[in-house]
Amino acid sequence: MTMRFTALGTGTVSLSPNRSCAGYLLESAPLRLLIDCGSGITRRLAELGVAWQTITHVALTHFHIDHHGDLPTLIFAWKYGFLPSRTEPVEIIGPVGTADLLARLAAAYGTWVTAPGFPLTVREIGPDDTLELPGGITFRCHPVPHTPESVAYSMERGGRRIVYTGDTGPSAALAAWAHGCDLLVCECSLPSGMGIPAHLTPEQCGELAAMAAPGHLALTHFYPPVEQVDIRALVGERYAGPVTLAMDGWYFETEVE
Ligand SMILES: [Zn+2]
Ligand SMILES: [Zn+2]
Repeated sequence: MTMRFTALGTGTVSLSPNRSCAGYLLESAPLRLLIDCGSGITRRLAELGVAWQTITHVALTHFHIDHHGDLPTLIFAWKYGFLPSRTEPVEIIGPVGTADLLARLAAAYGTWVTAPGFPLTVREIGPDDTLELPGGITFRCHPVPHTPESVAYSMERGGRRIVYTGDTGPSAALAAWAHGCDLLVCECSLPSGMGIPAHLTPEQCGELAAMAAPGHLALTHFYPPVEQVDIRALVGERYAGPVTLAMDGWYFETEVE
């Protein structure tokens, strides 16, 4: 058995020729979980040959549009994008407010957003909740300093654990919560000269990783200015472990029991 985490979109709302807005895929049979679904993610799913028709779950980290802009498109594709039409259920997971976001999208686009003709359920998750997803995946969240609803997610199976920070500012509590994970997927938005409390600089990624001590660190969510600095060197001054600067299509795979 394996657990595979694919970066579909490693960019931000600062539109990039090489990076889509945020989106990731966690596959661990029979679970096929899309995490965030920003603009360009539907395109990436097709481009990377991902069987998008059979995604089973979607999880949103927060409500910025670069993390969910393609979700209505994906639901519409599940409804009208192939024949015979989808009958398998989809569950949408997110912080408190996710059901309201879907209701507002349905008010704008049509009732198909929440009633697409196949079972679509919304499950809101709080910091004290533990979800047991198909395939023996234990799914948890942790609040992060970005927007009031923002969370990081942890996916664990057979002693292996992957943590995705979503968008976040510096947080020792997040580092402690992520401690010892096999893969830490960490946002790396801005160079230090442009740093703000709601995002991380490479230096802050290094500090977070030094506290969290993951088996592997993958950086993502790069605004173009941060790519003008030596991210690897700045992180490396603070954290000695292996680092990947993720590109769209990069994936991490681990054996699980
Ligand atoms: Zn973002
Ligand atoms: Zn954001």
